[in-house]
Amino acid sequence: MYKPKILVVEDDPAITNLIRTTLDTQEYQYHTAKNGASAMLDAVSYNADVIILDLGLPDMDGVEIIHKIRGWSNVPIIVVSARSEDSDKVEALDAGADDYLTKPFSIDELLARLRVALRRSRAEESSAQVSSVYHNGELSIDYAAGCVYMNGAEIHLTPMEYKLLCVLAKNTGKVLTHNYILKEVWGSALASDTPSLRVFMATLRKKIEKTPSEPQYIQTHIGVGYRMIRQ
Ligand code: CA
Repeated sequence: MYKPKILVVEDDPAITNLIRTTLDTQEYQYHTAKNGASAMLDAVSYNADVIILDLGLPDMDGVEIIHKIRGWSNVPIIVVSARSEDSDKVEALDAGADDYLTKPFSIDELLARLRVALRRSRAEESSAQVSSVYHNGELSIDYAAGCVYMNGAEIHLTPMEYKLLCVLAKNTGKVLTHNYILKEVWGSALASDTPSLRVFMATLRKKIEKTPSEPQYIQTHIGVGYRMIRQ
């Protein structure tokens, strides 16, 4: 059986050991790098399925590494950061990271995020054979027809809600920042548009979520953005 390859970039030995021990129990293969320079080399040579990346490295800022890797690779990147400020998470996500963990994090949390990231990289491989219909749990989107179905019944969305749903669906598993969504849906990313994004999100959720206050499909990341969850 293929063991997914994880590249772990972290300069703190205690956290590296924790991640190592966790990965050993799950039969992942991994390789570790302690600084930005070796991370860049390993990102090229190791061909990881997922990269776990500490933002605070001795020689380079993690965000800079994300920018560089995104120049040639779409590999899922999970940022691990001691910085709890939302702005750091947003910066890393806008640079192209998929997800983030704030230290201290639990082993269960780390494994859950890894599973999401691995599912996304597999889904991306299979959708390379361009599928015109999106399926996720009871939700399906027929991109060619521009129709959305919940459990087989058509849901009527406004053009904005439809665009919003498509942006989230096409990035299933990935945390999308407010900025990213605004740019994709409205073509601009003014912070003043964030309240209207919330309004559209609320009306979209009323149409696709069974219980809009406890969303199953679209997860809120307070101060950061939203993520479509794979069911
Ligand atoms: Ca560090």
